[in-house]
Amino acid sequence: MADLILKLQKANIIGRGGAEYPAHKKWEAVRNALNQSSKGPGLGYVICNASEHEPAVSKDHFILEHHADKLFEGMKLAIKETGAREGIFSLNAKYYATMKTDLDARIAAAKKDGFSMRIVEATSYIGGEETALLNAIEGRRCEPRLKPPFPTQQGLHGAPTLIHNVETLYDIALVAEGTYDDKRFYTVSGAIPHPGIYRLPVTLTALQILEQTENVPQQEFFAQLGGGASGTVFDQQQLAHETVHGAGSVVVHLLKENPRELLLAWLNFFHKESCGKCTPCREGTYQLVRLLEDHKRIPWKKMQPILEVLEKTSFCALGRSVPIPVLSYYRNVLKKS
Ligand code: SF4
Repeated sequence: MADLILKLQKANIIGRGGAEYPAHKKWEAVRNALNQSSKGPGLGYVICNASEHEPAVSKDHFILEHHADKLFEGMKLAIKETGAREGIFSLNAKYYATMKTDLDARIAAAKKDGFSMRIVEATSYIGGEETALLNAIEGRRCEPRLKPPFPTQQGLHGAPTLIHNVETLYDIALVAEGTYDDKRFYTVSGAIPHPGIYRLPVTLTALQILEQTENVPQQEFFAQLGGGASGTVFDQQQLAHETVHGAGSVVVHLLKENPRELLLAWLNFFHKESCGKCTPCREGTYQLVRLLEDHKRIPWKKMQPILEVLEKTSFCALGRSVPIPVLSYYRNVLKKS
């Protein structure tokens, strides 16, 4: 295990679900927890987080469709190296509906090879938050838990649990076989001629990604990077300097797009996906949608304090993410135009 941890560290493998936490640190934490828990909850679990529910992000779907062999290889490595008792795929239910035959056959083949694996269907955006995911698998209400303890310490059923995104497990398989090449998957979409999933170097700026995929619009544009709802918005000039983080999406919008409709699309998404556990997010997202629906002009002054409360007091990253697209759109695009 130590050997692979070192390789993950050298290759700088980070979580590709959004948080970008170094993979080797998770492995170390699980190893330490397993060493300390010989009389505790016993061997842990490996969970592949394949819930992928954010708009304009579909790279995990692409990997499942085209590179499932590498994903399963990454899962097997993680189970073998940690000595976990089981590997679980928390899988977007819509993806599972279209890939059931293939994935079930792969699970059966893995079982024949001595690996215990199963698929659990994920049905919501918050089900991709790692502790909400644990609750859902345990049959509890799908909402985030307080951290610490982190899943690597006390995860599924109280046992140390390694949770990795689909692309992270794919990268781990490449590192183990010595073919990792410092690239990642990008979902490129929006007002462009060639939307799709592209695997390109992690060092490219957003503008270089658009150029290399022949997706630079003819008209003035801006783009949202990282996530289709929670991503940061940058204007055309800034895109020449910004690399793409988070879930790896690049969503292109034309400058002439209706700002109120774009804001409503983001806020309706957050309001719909809010799990309702904490008041700032449950009420704040509702109030933001209402404010926009009730005003012909965007009521920035009324929205500002609500966004501030969301950022400072929400229980989890969903609520804290709401101000990111809204305020960066205002600051980087609307205020300048
Ligand atoms: S921030 Fe939103 S999604 Fe997160 S716990 Fe609070 S209500 Fe639920």
